Amino acid sequence: MILTIDIENLDLTEQGVRRLLRLLDKYNAKATFFVVTDQIKKHGRFIKQIAEKHEIASHTHNHKNLKLLESKIILYELKKSKEEIENLGINCIGFRAPYNLPNKDILTSLNKYGYEYDSSLCRVYFPSRFNYRGIPNSPYIAKGDDLTKKGNFMMEFPISSFSPFKFPCTMSFIKIFHKWIPKRLLSSDKKERILSLHDHDLQAGSYQEGQNRFLEYLQRFNSGEKVFSILEGIMKRERRIISCKEYLDQLKAQVRNN
Ligand SMILES: [Zn+2]
Repeated sequence: MILTIDIENLDLTEQGVRRLLRLLDKYNAKATFFVVTDQIKKHGRFIKQIAEKHEIASHTHNHKNLKLLESKIILYELKKSKEEIENLGINCIGFRAPYNLPNKDILTSLNKYGYEYDSSLCRVYFPSRFNYRGIPNSPYIAKGDDLTKKGNFMMEFPISSFSPFKFPCTMSFIKIFHKWIPKRLLSSDKKERILSLHDHDLQAGSYQEGQNRFLEYLQRFNSGEKVFSILEGIMKRERRIISCKEYLDQLKAQVRNN
């Protein structure tokens, strides 16, 4: 399994993220942390500490919906966030768009700014936002003008979904419906699945600001203690837990050896 965590508000969630780091250590697991980089000014030291064992990647600088921005500002978000991470002395090769909404303009620019992969898609249908139900359920190489299609442009790490109903492999979903999700669906089969969580899942009472009241309620639901027990259950069942970068490195090594 590939584990990814979006880090959006360390002011509220640092304790929860620290607890996650201890859990990852216990299971010798690695993860990718997609960081909103406007937090670096205040939390740079902590992010460097995470980077000692895990991958740090970009979740933009300001966490704005890229579909609503002018291309000049989108480019700024891609460039600035990578620079902020690299100013900490950390290499940044991965990108995830806020709200799983990449804009078409980002495609060539990701390449231009030296990103090696994207992880913006989530293999589900989200009414009035997107429908990615048809994309592959594990990492693939995407097409240059369309990340949802296979091609030879850039590695895509889509957030997976569970069969048979294609529910999202995200903690926001799992923490609400965990009682009804059969255990074996969480653990991977032969292909690598991608699980996603948010820092606010890890900290009781925290949520993403600027959402409506219902979403706030859902984001707070079962966060903290319950999420940690679900996560530990998943970690016990998984064969191994790795970051996007580790997966990519293994793939490169295989290509070299063939
Ligand atoms: Zn986000």
